[in-house]
Amino acid sequence: MFASTLDTNIEFLKGVGPKRAELLQKELGIFTCGQLLTLYPFRYIDRTRYYKINELNPDFPYVQILGRITAKEEVGEKHKKRIVAKLTDETGTIELVWFQSLKWVTDNVQTGKVYIIFGKPVVFNGAFSISHPELETYPRPRNTIGNLVLQPVYSTTEKLKKFLLDSRGIQKLQALLIDQFIGDIKETIPSYILNKYNIIGRKQAILNIHFPKDTTLLKESERRLKFDELFFIQLSMLYGKQQRELKFKGHLFPVVGERVNVFYSELLPFELTNAQKRVVKEIRQDTQKGIQMNRLIQGDVGSGKTAVALLSMLLTNDNGLQACMMAPTEILARQHYESIVSMLQGRLANVTILTGSTTKKQRLQIHEDLENGKTDILIGTHALIEDKVIFKNLGMVVIDEQHRFGVEQRAKLWRKNTIPPHILVMTATPIPRTLAMTLYGDLDVSIIDELPAGRKPIDTKHFFEGQRLRMFGLMKQEIAKGRQVYVVYPLIKESEKLDLLHLEAGIEQMSYQFPLPDYQISIVHGKMRNADKDYEMQRFVTGKSQIMVATTVIEVGVNVPNASIMIIENAERFGLSQLHQLRGRVGRGAEQSYCILMSGNKLSKEGKLRLETMVHTNNGFEISEIDLQLRGPGNLSGTQQSGVLELKLANLATDQVLLQQARDTVIEILAEDAILIDPKNSLLKSYLAKRLRGISLDKIS
Ligand code: ADP
Ligand code: MG
Repeated sequence: MFASTLDTNIEFLKGVGPKRAELLQKELGIFTCGQLLTLYPFRYIDRTRYYKINELNPDFPYVQILGRITAKEEVGEKHKKRIVAKLTDETGTIELVWFQSLKWVTDNVQTGKVYIIFGKPVVFNGAFSISHPELETYPRPRNTIGNLVLQPVYSTTEKLKKFLLDSRGIQKLQALLIDQFIGDIKETIPSYILNKYNIIGRKQAILNIHFPKDTTLLKESERRLKFDELFFIQLSMLYGKQQRELKFKGHLFPVVGERVNVFYSELLPFELTNAQKRVVKEIRQDTQKGIQMNRLIQGDVGSGKTAVALLSMLLTNDNGLQACMMAPTEILARQHYESIVSMLQGRLANVTILTGSTTKKQRLQIHEDLENGKTDILIGTHALIEDKVIFKNLGMVVIDEQHRFGVEQRAKLWRKNTIPPHILVMTATPIPRTLAMTLYGDLDVSIIDELPAGRKPIDTKHFFEGQRLRMFGLMKQEIAKGRQVYVVYPLIKESEKLDLLHLEAGIEQMSYQFPLPDYQISIVHGKMRNADKDYEMQRFVTGKSQIMVATTVIEVGVNVPNASIMIIENAERFGLSQLHQLRGRVGRGAEQSYCILMSGNKLSKEGKLRLETMVHTNNGFEISEIDLQLRGPGNLSGTQQSGVLELKLANLATDQVLLQQARDTVIEILAEDAILIDPKNSLLKSYLAKRLRGISLDKIS
């Protein structure tokens, strides 16, 4: 009755049974045989390498030792009973200890015989010992799974280990699975692609990822399975994009009219940078194609994204449609509104702001003006995409800061007009190329990689505690020039109290260095009432205070071009992208600005690298690449909602080349066969059909 398919419940695999099946589900989320088969080893141990006992080091993970059992005895009473043996090679002796399976050890481990021992050495009472080592007789019998040159290591949990599902136990199950199901493993990628790119078959890859014949085949298998993961993410995204483009028309903007021209020639107070010009051109091209634009603009803080956004919105207005711009917070929305109003000087477009604090009465008026088309540009928070906000004819949506804006929310915007509006997403958090391709692979990406001319790069310095007086000196020097200073303390939720203590101690020291009435200090932290925060912020914004001491990042989201120093206390506690964001608060004017990273003397290797990176570069893209290397994609913001975390083997930090290959391959396939109607692409078509029904990759193996 039970067809031998990979969907078989894991319970029915020989040697599993209900108890272990339940554990596998609970601990690893594995329900079926197919899912267990895609639990890949996380590393391999070279079983041809034997360590000598005098080489051992407690930092070693697992080691393999060849030695003779020279003594063996049972010690202790009752539940403390254990067997201790001595293993000796020509360089020394270590202890082997067993607390369980004593009968097996008594019967099978023989004094005088040579064994291959495998385990983690620890130092106990000044000597090395290995508890519950794996043990094989020497020489190894041929053709067992223990005969592999590369021994796979699977990650399991303490609970699973109690039920003999340690790495070895999992390996045994994998052997059974392969035996039973190898014939059921289906190919997922068309053979013409495999041939063209020299990719090995899926069956062979799965076999060799678990039981690698040699390092070459292991590499090939890893490449194949990584390719699978990356390829199918790209396929879903690019196919979806293509479908959208085929299905939905986009507004055509044939005209560059009075608004754009007047703005450009009369109102824009500066020449656009080449990067800005390039992006504007890309937007121009997008909006002349008749398909809906979905474009992401990445550009560091201060790279001038607002001007690009405004030009795009005016272009929209020139073509008889409305535009809106959304920001993640009210403060940012207000800032956009103010800067756009001031750039337009009351000409060319009717601009309105709508946020959470807009009164009901104002709101009604705004709704009316939107519906009758009186409003050309609407700026606000997410409130402005609520269903009750109806536009007469919305042609463009600009979204500032994409992080909180997923695919579904974008899809919601597409329904705002019978022809969906063009969408321009802007982010000041540069993300690595691979991550962008994976997270926003369905968006076209523009990069503003150039700051307006005349900006001086921020001078970043790392000071240890002992150099604090130098830091104060620099503060005094800048304040004397009429400039302002931010001092930021880290805020970690779990120890908010401690952070507040730090902050208070810092302020006390600060007020000693910077006495009233010459110096005014504003203080903003999370425990304050909003009204008090606003008051303090306002004092800084208006220049009444010279020093802003703050605990959080968000609250310094204000644009104060006169601020020229950013001091970050305990800088080693911040992540790289956070440090970069904080630094971006200064350097907004033409004068030289500084960022001072204060840290304790003891730094972790990673903490040191972060601070060095900050000192060495101002380039957000470079920083994001290093951040990716350091932390892995799972910890970068924005990855949580995407498929990135489902990657089992592929690594966005190290598999850039393969990702590009996978993407290019998909582009090539779709260019030739847009709707995948060619029989040679039938595997892909059926993958997408299953995916649409919510079936994951595991299940189609
Ligand atoms: P961001 O990309 O961080 O949103 P903004 O659009 O706020 O940057 O621009 C930062 C500052 O640079 C603003 O004061 C803006 O007027 C100015 N700016 C933008 N583009 C240019 C340019 N091409 N030349 C000179 N200044 C510019
Ligand atoms: Mg901005």
